[in-house]
Amino acid sequence: MRLTRYFLPVLKETPAEAQIASHRLMLRAGMIRQQAAGIYSWLPLGFKVLKRIEQIVHEEQQRAGHIPLLMPTVQPADLWQESGRYNAYGPEMLRIRDRHDRDMLYGPTNEEMITDIFRSAISSYKDLPLTLYHIQWKFRDEVRPRFGVMRGREFYMKDGYNFDLTKEDALHAYNRHLVSYLRTYERMGLQAIPMRADSGPIGGDDTHEFLVLAETGESEVFYDSEITDLKFGDREIDYDSHEACAAILAEFTSRYARTDETHDEAVWANVPEDRRRVARGIEVGQIFYFGTKYSEPMGAMVQGPDGKQVPVHMGSHGIGVSRLVGAIIEASHDDKGIIWPEGVTPFHCGIVNLRQGDSATDAACESLYSALTAAGLEPLYDDRDERAGAKFASMDLIGLPWRITVGPRGLEKGVVELTSRRTGESEELSAEAAVERIKGIYAGV
Ligand code: ATP
Ligand code: MG
Repeated sequence: MRLTRYFLPVLKETPAEAQIASHRLMLRAGMIRQQAAGIYSWLPLGFKVLKRIEQIVHEEQQRAGHIPLLMPTVQPADLWQESGRYNAYGPEMLRIRDRHDRDMLYGPTNEEMITDIFRSAISSYKDLPLTLYHIQWKFRDEVRPRFGVMRGREFYMKDGYNFDLTKEDALHAYNRHLVSYLRTYERMGLQAIPMRADSGPIGGDDTHEFLVLAETGESEVFYDSEITDLKFGDREIDYDSHEACAAILAEFTSRYARTDETHDEAVWANVPEDRRRVARGIEVGQIFYFGTKYSEPMGAMVQGPDGKQVPVHMGSHGIGVSRLVGAIIEASHDDKGIIWPEGVTPFHCGIVNLRQGDSATDAACESLYSALTAAGLEPLYDDRDERAGAKFASMDLIGLPWRITVGPRGLEKGVVELTSRRTGESEELSAEAAVERIKGIYAGV
């Protein structure tokens, strides 16, 4: 993309309404525009990052054997009356009436609808196990929408639902989700720690939240410092294997890690004092086993091997796709702007032309641009007639991890400059070598 043909409405001033870095930077970098409290348009740069995150979520869900579909945002109220949640949900639910006076709602989540889809089609245990998921907009009329996309009213979420014959199988689905989430967040350059969460009225400890450590996080968290040394890495996991998934769960959840809702001073006291950490975290996902809570009232039954009808065991599993854009920025920025991890960056690298209009420099930039594009990469070429300082400031603000700077002085020596946004380190090399380096970096992402 050439910057002169793009739509990147960066702001010079720091917006006064934004209280935290990610919100400020998303506004300044022209990623989003607020349309109403907690409701945003995703401008081209923000939209690109959202789509990269969505793509990683799809790939990792499907790697784990989960099947994508798409349910609507607007739902009929009847389904929620069946489960009993229509009255229980409260003012967070956006209730709508259509022209025929039918009660509708903008979905805050989809347990009821997916259960309805399941019961309409499946009646035998032979069709299990099954996990269906979608990535769709949700609406929750939050009391205090704030921090930009981190706590919106309209937000984008992956929600998946498992259907299993037995509790044991459903717990395997739970473990499988935990494993796939670890891999998902690491691909985005994030460390998200699974923490034992509050299961509310359902009881038991079959729910974990995934938290990204950040000073601006809304949850207070308590954890054993050893946990931050754990890396999932590029392990190959057989997602069908109960043992393999259970082993990973044990590895990542055996050390103390809890939010303030489940924090227990007595257990905490057993963690060696020098390893106790109290910090803040951003919730980027949650997994849940809830048994027959919806299948029973809604009649989602299957015939078991013994011929008897039994309600299926279910769980639901969410990832905050739009919140992740903010969470990644909270975890990765400096005073000049965003620093995108390679896995989610909107463009793979920037090209800065230091002397726009100089025929040799323009030609060198064009040739870099074509070489990168031919390699399947997306460069952002700053071809504006602007001072070098302004170009560098824009690139630093929007946070592309790599920048290639092209100027007449370097070209005389046959070199361009390759700079890492994260470390600030630069090196001089030929244009061909720079292209090879960028290709190599993204080959492993
Ligand atoms: P919270 O405690 O932050 O209100 P939640 O526990 O109610 O969230 P879940 O129902 O678990 O949310 O939804 C799954 C994921 O969706 C959350 O882990 C979070 O990342 C994201 N999410 C929830 N509410 C919002 C929101 N208002 N804006 C953006 N993302 C959200
Ligand atoms: Mg949650």
